[in-house]
Amino acid sequence: MAFIKINKENFFYNLNQIALKTGSKEKIAIVLKDNAYGHGLVLMAKLASEYGITQAVVRTYSEAEKIETFFEHILILGDRIIKHESYTFTINSLEDITQAQSGASVELKVNTGMHRNGIPIDEIALAVEQIKQHNLNLVGVMTHYRSADEMGSEWFWQKKNFEAAKEKIKELGYHGVRFHSHNSASILRCKSFDEDLVRVGIGAYGYNELPTPFDRLALKPVLSLHAKKVATRLLQKGERIGYGGDFVAPKEMQISTYDIGYGDGWCRSSSTNPYITAENLPILGRISMDFISLEGNKKEICMMDDAQHAARQLGTISYEVTTALQEKIEKIVI
Ligand SMILES: *Cc1c(COP(=O)(O)O)cnc(C)c1O
Repeated sequence: MAFIKINKENFFYNLNQIALKTGSKEKIAIVLKDNAYGHGLVLMAKLASEYGITQAVVRTYSEAEKIETFFEHILILGDRIIKHESYTFTINSLEDITQAQSGASVELKVNTGMHRNGIPIDEIALAVEQIKQHNLNLVGVMTHYRSADEMGSEWFWQKKNFEAAKEKIKELGYHGVRFHSHNSASILRCKSFDEDLVRVGIGAYGYNELPTPFDRLALKPVLSLHAKKVATRLLQKGERIGYGGDFVAPKEMQISTYDIGYGDGWCRSSSTNPYITAENLPILGRISMDFISLEGNKKEICMMDDAQHAARQLGTISYEVTTALQEKIEKIVI
């Protein structure tokens, strides 16, 4: 089977860079949704906790249950809202309030311009009123930026909207709630952090997705993907490899089969514009469910050691490359 190496030193390095921005480890909430972006939910929870992180963000209740021993507090982004002593739940709409279990701790998501989730600023008073009526405990107010990773004024505009939301919450008499808006791109470009928390995902895993015009902090990829040799053979000139025989040997060649494929969550892409591995070997012919072919006979190969580079080849983003990797892939910490 293909396997993943998790570089603990790089993970801690990235967390250090973020802690320098926030001023302390306590203000970092590590985002572990979707199997920690493919890195392994429980493994990354354990490492984050070892580093000194006390808060996590996940998508579902069942994810939270798997990692609850590692954290003091877990924020759940999108699941049924129930009463729980160390979990808080996101309110994405007014309907969420009416369906929440009495006594639950909640964090109100405010729509400051992304128009995906959250309550509009002019409905904050109404939402807070309903939160009281339903006997929910408001512990946080949050938002999410749509363009933190782009040059231009959008991020500033949304930040300003969130400041207005904060004022409104304070006017309504809530002074103890925590405020948080930053994701990775946003904290990486932020010069004066003054909130209670950052929700950091991709940055902790080693990718700075800000474009080059920004003064970009270098981060270090945490994950690398490897595969083992299954078989080696000698091809004569003109012999073809794999489904459809898309690759034709231009000369006598030694080739090997490796145990990774789209069944592991690797993008099948196209055999006419083949993916080139971290060791600079183009994949020969079509990618099978569980196998690829490469020239040579190395025992092990590194498929990828930088998801941002891979994403550029595959026409996507680092998030998708790592998140697609299947949970079943064995992980080794180095
Ligand atoms: C996924 C997510 C994050 C983390 O975003 P990154 O860009 O990976 O840092 C933060 N906040 C919310 C609401 C999210 O859904």
